Amino acid sequence: MLLRTDKVSKHFGGIHAVDGVDFTLRQGQLKSIIGPNGAGKTTLFNLIAGVYLATNGKVFFKDRDITNLSLHKTSRLGITKTYQITHIFPNLTVFENVRISAQSRNTAFNFWRTTHSFSALNERALDILEQVELLDKRSLLASTLSHGERRYLEIGIALATEPEVLLLDEPTAGMSCAETNLCAELIKKLNKELKLSIVLVEHDMSVVMGISDEILVLNEGRTLAEGTPIEVSDNEEVQRVYLGEGKACSA
Ligand code: ATP
Repeated sequence: MLLRTDKVSKHFGGIHAVDGVDFTLRQGQLKSIIGPNGAGKTTLFNLIAGVYLATNGKVFFKDRDITNLSLHKTSRLGITKTYQITHIFPNLTVFENVRISAQSRNTAFNFWRTTHSFSALNERALDILEQVELLDKRSLLASTLSHGERRYLEIGIALATEPEVLLLDEPTAGMSCAETNLCAELIKKLNKELKLSIVLVEHDMSVVMGISDEILVLNEGRTLAEGTPIEVSDNEEVQRVYLGEGKACSA
């Protein structure tokens, strides 16, 4: 198993945001976490990413215990998270945003060389911009991008850290249906063509049902159901608690 949690919990005072959840992600899998508002999706995500310390339980990456490693350390190991709120440098170009992120992975950095001399780094940044379909916008300031394009850039910044696992937190939040459908295609492409293992927290059911290999349904901090999109959408308990909520853009 590439990534797994063993009865992981996170309590905020008396609130059991995540309560004894077993999560698994296989190599190359695209797994979504869904559930009603307050179900614990983002908290579980943050436990995996190293944003939160676990109250109980363990998190393993390739059988290594990574429970309570910091976000910085999990990122170094190959688990990279994007944010619900975009984290970009608005006054740098699209290209510079990705190159800086790629540079953070370059351990052979030499202070006395100009950044432009890192041709391999520049090529990598351009490759990534092509993958996230922003190559033609590379010279624009990030601040001039549309909301949807900024989310793509954010994914590009995450890809530049060379992740093995990409954690996407509501990537389509605030997008129009047209942007949402394109974003779903992009996520699917990263998973199928780049063989990237992906964990997705997402409210849009057409995205979740359309691209996930498996879905974990949380409710009140606990696992309500887990299975393929068909298994989960046929589950009566899931239908009662969750399905039908949220937006749904169909392709
Ligand atoms: P949403 O779909 O609304 O984003 P979610 O499923 O991601 O919800 P979480 O954000 O993980 O749910 O929250 C789970 C529970 O934990 C909620 O009751 C929330 O109010 C609580 N919670 C989350 N973060 C904190 C925090 N930092 N301090 C206190 N309570 C928190």
